[in-house]
Amino acid sequence: MTTTLINGKEVSQRIREGLKTEIAALTAQGHTPGLAVVLVGEDPASQVYVGSKVKACAELGIYSQKWALPTETTQEELVQLIHKLNADDRIHGILVQSPPPKHIDEEAVVLNIDPRKDVDGFHPVNVAKLVLEEPDGFVPCTPLGCMELLKAYGIETAGKHAVVIGRSMIVGKPMANLLVSKQANATVTIAHSRTKDLAALCRTADIIVAAVGRPKMVTADFIKPGAVVLDVGINRVPDATAARGYRIVGDVDFEGVRDQCSYITPVPGGVGPMTIAMLMANTVKACHQLTTAS
Ligand code: NAD
Repeated sequence: MTTTLINGKEVSQRIREGLKTEIAALTAQGHTPGLAVVLVGEDPASQVYVGSKVKACAELGIYSQKWALPTETTQEELVQLIHKLNADDRIHGILVQSPPPKHIDEEAVVLNIDPRKDVDGFHPVNVAKLVLEEPDGFVPCTPLGCMELLKAYGIETAGKHAVVIGRSMIVGKPMANLLVSKQANATVTIAHSRTKDLAALCRTADIIVAAVGRPKMVTADFIKPGAVVLDVGINRVPDATAARGYRIVGDVDFEGVRDQCSYITPVPGGVGPMTIAMLMANTVKACHQLTTAS
């Protein structure tokens, strides 16, 4: 079987190039898209993610604000900042980096973000818009990126059986909604930690999306020959030969399954690079919508 590796770096680069042109046109009209990234606390991984987002903004010509708040920031102080950003005309997208410190109620914070600026797609208004298939809503960036990869490689979804492993609000559920939508027309099964005989279920899948957070969980016995496999997982595993002492692997046993797949995303370099590209795309969309509405 010929296996095609899905190159997320390449697809995300193409998307970024297209966005640059759009951003330049918006800027020429006096509407530079703006993104505010809010980080509470000092989680090292979050600091890296926030840094990458701000850097991507600079590369594309998006105005950005980075708010790094101390760990002891109260819920009230954080909400006050969000209200300030809601009212700031230079800002079209707001995101609060997850996970915040334990004393912060993340869901309550998200409720305070103006849904028109909720570029992460976590506000209930945007969750509803996804389910209702209303095109002006915001969809979480990682599943949106997975759909772009399927499109970029001309992978047919209509009438196909897709199994999404994982039911989080960030990946699994929105992914399932996108696949079942009238844009994609797949028949979708959502699997999760209580699903029985996951391998047998996955063997009925034309498309598997793995979003679990368990290294190499999806093995050869999960794969129907010719299946498409999208691996969302980002897992650190110890590796004495790596400079950092660990390496990143996905939820799929890439080497063990690749020959059985028609298409597969590697980790890293598959789904990962798409997430920031889609965040930039959502920010540009928010800018379009907010500036044409006013
Ligand atoms: P999560 O912990 O919120 O959800 C994991 C899901 O997996 C749960 O719904 C759970 O029911 C399911 N699950 C757990 N054990 C299972 C099992 N044995 N069998 C079947 N299902 C099982 O995680 P998440 O936020 O959705 O992230 C999932 C993975 O994707 C993580 O590795 C995360 O790092 C990665 N991720 C990557 C990106 C990206 O940009 N590429 C973005 C978000 C998340």
